[in-house]
Amino acid sequence: MTFFENAENRGHESVHQFCDSQTGLRAIIAIHSTALGPAAGGCRMWHYESEAGAVRDALRLSRGMTYKNAMAGLPLGGGKAVILANPDIPPSDDLFHAFGRCVDSLGGRYITAEDVGVTVDNMRLVKQVTDFVAGLPPSEGSAGGDPSPWTADGVFLGLQAAAKHRLGADSLDNLRVAVQGVGKVGYDLCRQLHAAGASLVISDVSERNLARARNDFGARVVNAEKILFEDVDLLAPCAMGAILDEQSIPDIKARVIGGAANNQLATEQDGKRLFDRNILYAPDYVINGGGITSVSLEYMGNKTEADVRAQIALIPGRLAEIFESANNLQTPTNVIADSMAEAIVAAAASASATVN
Ligand code: NAD
Repeated sequence: MTFFENAENRGHESVHQFCDSQTGLRAIIAIHSTALGPAAGGCRMWHYESEAGAVRDALRLSRGMTYKNAMAGLPLGGGKAVILANPDIPPSDDLFHAFGRCVDSLGGRYITAEDVGVTVDNMRLVKQVTDFVAGLPPSEGSAGGDPSPWTADGVFLGLQAAAKHRLGADSLDNLRVAVQGVGKVGYDLCRQLHAAGASLVISDVSERNLARARNDFGARVVNAEKILFEDVDLLAPCAMGAILDEQSIPDIKARVIGGAANNQLATEQDGKRLFDRNILYAPDYVINGGGITSVSLEYMGNKTEADVRAQIALIPGRLAEIFESANNLQTPTNVIADSMAEAIVAAAASASATVN
């Protein structure tokens, strides 16, 4: 299927496919929108079953970044890179150099950072060949570094806002929370939930990550297939996307869903399915905007951790506004958030059309 015919091409500006025979790099960079600024979004390294699956992921994730950056109030558009991992060959340093050259070839239309499967050390290698990268180790007190803890901070604050709205809870103390995926973000979220007095049930496909969260926070472990259906107050998806669908939604018991994973809804109609079941869904790209906020302020330079914290503190208020509108208009939260983000992007596009 061509880019033009792809059902996930939702007004994307461009998609770039790269091969490097020396390192085996196969990468896709999708640019959804540059209306608000350079397209920014992390680089995911994942073993895709097919090239079509990788393109689809890049298209969905880059569009999500446009909405995320708009809702976070950042001067950035939306883009995303995916590297098609070869499960038999660990990625070399040269592969990340090659990836950096791909990013550089776009001349600053796309800014990269870490996402699933990619580390700060990988980004250091990318930085050796391009300046269009963030998520690098910061100097003391400056903004920057691994975005994951900042993402977890935003998700934690967002869950507090959602619990207040739906459950009338002033704190997360004694609430039961299911966390799907206890990797970089999920683990740090568990740390904060545990400190707040929540009781945790977790799942992961990595035994190592599971053991770490179980030992550190006394979390109960369940099978990966069961986590979505646990009898809990809050569900925090922090693994992969498209887990909320026609099959899973009828059996979910949580009354609130909010987590780090991108593209949690398999389709837009799944937002309506959650709404009809009276499950409060915190739109993923609003609640998980903490990491890109850190990346963005790092990239702009001269920003501190306090600046990042202040921006992330706005996440619960944004969510509360979405929850209120959803209530007042009897409309799913994902629809409300989409229309808010689209209005921000459209205003920027028409302002730049006027200038030009
Ligand atoms: P990660 O790779 O560190 O963690 C993901 C975890 O999910 C891993 O432990 C993995 O083993 C586990 N996992 C994978 N499939 C699973 C399954 N079927 N069931 C249960 N666990 C499973 O990634 P991360 O950086 O923590 O990101 C988690 C999610 O949040 C991703 O969707 C990512 O795109 C999104 N996100 C991350 C950031 C960030 O700052 N890192 C920002 C925004 C969004």
